[in-house]
Amino acid sequence: MTDRIETITTPAAMAARAAELARRGVRVGFVPTMGALHDGHLELVRTARAKNDVALVSIFVNPLQFGPNEDFTRYPRDLDGDLAKLATVGCDAVFTTDAASMYPRGFATYVVNDALTDRFEGAVRPGHFRGVLTVVAKLFHLVRPTVAYFGQKDAQQALLIRRMVADLDFPLQVSVQPTVREPDGLARSSRNVFLSQEGRTRGLALSRGLKAAAARYAAGERSAAALIATARGELEATAGVGVDYVALVHADTLEDVRQADARALMWVAARVDGVRLLDNALLSAPTEAAW
Ligand code: AMP
Repeated sequence: MTDRIETITTPAAMAARAAELARRGVRVGFVPTMGALHDGHLELVRTARAKNDVALVSIFVNPLQFGPNEDFTRYPRDLDGDLAKLATVGCDAVFTTDAASMYPRGFATYVVNDALTDRFEGAVRPGHFRGVLTVVAKLFHLVRPTVAYFGQKDAQQALLIRRMVADLDFPLQVSVQPTVREPDGLARSSRNVFLSQEGRTRGLALSRGLKAAAARYAAGERSAAALIATARGELEATAGVGVDYVALVHADTLEDVRQADARALMWVAARVDGVRLLDNALLSAPTEAAW
C-alpha cells in the first residue's frame, strides 16, 4: 500500500514538486504534522483529500518548537507506521526531511507574534510558538498549499497561524477542524502513548471538566467564574492531575471573558504522568469546530 505515496525528502525537491502542481493548477490540501499519526491527524488528511485534488502531509519533528527541557528526543517517531496509515486515507504525498535541511548553518530568521503568545501555551513554553510559526511559514513556502488544515485541539496554534497568514499575506486558506477524541472523550494526541493505564483514566478529567461546564452553560449558567470552577472541580477531584490552567476566553481573541456567550471557549491544560494534556471546547457547541 505504502508505495502509492510519493515521499519527498529534501526542501528543494518539495519546492520543485509544488511549482509543478501550481503550474498545473492542482488544488493542494496540506496537513503539517510531527508524525506518530493518530486518528486526529488522519481525519485532517481525509478532509484535505475530500476538498482538494491532492492531499499532502508533512512529517517533521521540529526542534525549534521544543524548549531545552522538553521532550524533543523522546517525542514518538514511526515513519513506516505513519506511511502505512496515510495510505489508508488517500494521502498522495509526504514531505519529510531532516533538521539540518530545514535549518542549515547560519539560519537566523524567525516569525514571531507579539500579541497572542504571552498566555496559555505561550507562557508555559517560551519560544514554542516562534518555532511553530517559523517552521509553518517555511512549509507554506515549500508546499504552496491551496488550503492548510489544523486541529482545534491546538487552538492557540490555529489562531496564531491564521494571524500569520493574514499578517504576512500568505496566499492560502486556513481550515480548523474539530478535535478528534477517543470513544471515552480523551482528545487524541501523539503524547497519549506516554500515559500509563491509570494516567489515561486520569486524563479523562479534562474532557469531563469541559463537558460539565458545557452542561452548566446549557442549563443557563453564564458566569465565567462559576463555569471555570465547575471544570476546575472535575480536574482537582482527580488524583494525579496537576492543573496548569483553566480559562474561559473569547474564541477569536483569547481574551478572558466574565460572562460566557456563544463564542466562549473553555480551555484546560494539565499534567498527568509528566505528560502535558490540552483540551478546549466552545461551551455553546462542544462537539463543533470553533472556527
Ligand atoms: P502535531 O503532529 O501534534 O503537530 O499535530 C499536527 C496537526 O494535527 C495539528 O494541526 C494538530 O492540531 C492536529 N491534531 C492533533 N491532535 C488532534 C486531534 N485530536 N483532533 C484534531 N486534530 C488534531
